[in-house]
Amino acid sequence: MRLFFCNQEKEITLKASEYLRKWGIRNITHSPCPIKEKTDSALNFATIRIIRPGSPDLNVNPLSAEIRFEEKRLRECRCGKGPVYDGFRYAELVRSHLPQGIDYLAEK
Ligand SMILES: [Zn+2]
Repeated sequence: MRLFFCNQEKEITLKASEYLRKWGIRNITHSPCPIKEKTDSALNFATIRIIRPGSPDLNVNPLSAEIRFEEKRLRECRCGKGPVYDGFRYAELVRSHLPQGIDYLAEK
């Protein structure tokens, strides 16, 4: 199993590792946040932001300030804080940044 560390949530990831080990999962690998410094994806993250709770509408035409916000968030690895995103699209976007050449299914 591989867990990814984000700057702001490092303690949560360490605690999760402790619990997983107590449950018998011994093969835990820690890796750095896959989207940290991926500022070239700022526009993509800005467009999948939910703009109104209760509405399926996404932020399809983000303002330049919103894109700069995403650039800063990615540069500082402020994952898990701030805007709410479309979860499926967020997962797809993060997945596209996972390190290549690792057999994630083999790391159960
Ligand atoms: Zn992060």
